[in-house]
Amino acid sequence: MSSNPLKAWWRSFTVRLTLGYATIFTLSAAVLFGLLYVLLASALERKDREVIEARLKECAAVYASGGLPALRNLVERNSTDVDKSKSFFVRVTGRLGSVLFVNVPNEWLRVDEVPSQQAQSDASRPGWLRIPKDDERDLTVATAKLIDGSILQVGRSTNSRETVLQPFRRNFLLIMTPTLMLAVIGGAYFAHRATQPVREVVETARAISDRGNFSARVAARTSHAELEELASEFNRVLDKNQSLIQGMRDALDNVAHDLRTPLTRLRGTAEAAVQTTPDPVAREALADCVEESDRVLTILKALMDISEAEAGMMKLKREETSIPGLLREVIELYELISEEKRITVTTDFATDCKASVDPVRLRQAFANLLDNALKYTAEGGQVCLSCSNGPQCVIVHVRDTGMGIAAADQPRIWERLYRADKSRTQRGLGLGLSLVKAIVEAHQGTVSVTSEAGQGAEFVITLPQTPVPV
Ligand code: ADP
Repeated sequence: MSSNPLKAWWRSFTVRLTLGYATIFTLSAAVLFGLLYVLLASALERKDREVIEARLKECAAVYASGGLPALRNLVERNSTDVDKSKSFFVRVTGRLGSVLFVNVPNEWLRVDEVPSQQAQSDASRPGWLRIPKDDERDLTVATAKLIDGSILQVGRSTNSRETVLQPFRRNFLLIMTPTLMLAVIGGAYFAHRATQPVREVVETARAISDRGNFSARVAARTSHAELEELASEFNRVLDKNQSLIQGMRDALDNVAHDLRTPLTRLRGTAEAAVQTTPDPVAREALADCVEESDRVLTILKALMDISEAEAGMMKLKREETSIPGLLREVIELYELISEEKRITVTTDFATDCKASVDPVRLRQAFANLLDNALKYTAEGGQVCLSCSNGPQCVIVHVRDTGMGIAAADQPRIWERLYRADKSRTQRGLGLGLSLVKAIVEAHQGTVSVTSEAGQGAEFVITLPQTPVPV
């Protein structure tokens, strides 16, 4: 995971999906808006041109029939009309370029402002002419050649077009801001929903690898969308893995079970032979055989105890036991080793820490914890055992100043045969903590560890004072 939260945020698939949605949605809205604007503007322009053209034809026809006086008459009649849509700019330019007649509607232009230079120079060219006047007004002018060679120009202000289009432009930002917000909120909602199965898969994978919770699964769903199928396929893979692991465990249990009897017989034979054989070399070899058989038998017994406890079959001979008393016995057992390594073992016991437990099993668990504490603590270190009462439970702490356990190893140390890389130089098989966990859980208790590599480790066991009925 990235240490920079901003980078992590930017890399987040949900955030990118949200931004993607929001961008596409906003762009689509803007394009739609623009398209509408262009269509409306061109429709209005076409309409303006049609009107001007019609007016141009009318003026040309009047001029053809009655000359300039008839045209003037028509234009003046229209310019006094209340309907301002009939107000046109009309100009007749003679063949030599002199202006013969000009009419500029009063309501939109002063006479001295028209004709502009551009209008004059383009006057001889028939066709359309657009004369930008100022910010508010544009002129669209149509030109035609009259029968006597004069040029007739008819124009109209496009101001009315602007009255329609301007609010459109002004409101663009006003509309786009809530559109963008809606796009981001909607995008975030859909992205969050769409990536929910992925988050669940990640959470499940984390529960398995970080917390060792092998039974964790992604919640089942009824729909069969792609990502949800991913979740159910992921569950299938986990189920397959678990049944494989279970198969391996069963095989290990069976092997342990099957080896125990012949090995015990072998040990018995070797032990009997040690007593009778006169050859000292053979006697030493047989004694070695007995010792190694004992070691292997202990391992096999531990394996079988673990599987028995995990299956809920461990038989406990419970009795009211003083937990500090048990811990003292274990400390005594390891006195020689702690002295050899010059490790100070201190205690902090509350006197009335009593619980209904199997003392033999629990001594075994405490012994494993103290054994580890002494094993993984360098010479001159310290180990502290404490015992106190919690709410209807007894809490035991085993703390050392040893090499500690890396965060990545912590969920795995409870697995059978697991040993962290750094501890491989020490004797051991990786069964001690599995047995501790199995025994504590058979007592309906819990065991946990807090540690940092190089900073020592602290194991905490919580045991109910009386067993909870199940
Ligand atoms: P082992 O036989 O290797 O000691 P355990 O099951 O007792 O097997 O422990 C599993 C692993 O947990 C060890 O290999 C070691 O890496 C780690 N471990 C257990 N106790 C401690 C401790 N007190 N300090 C550091 N590491 C520990």
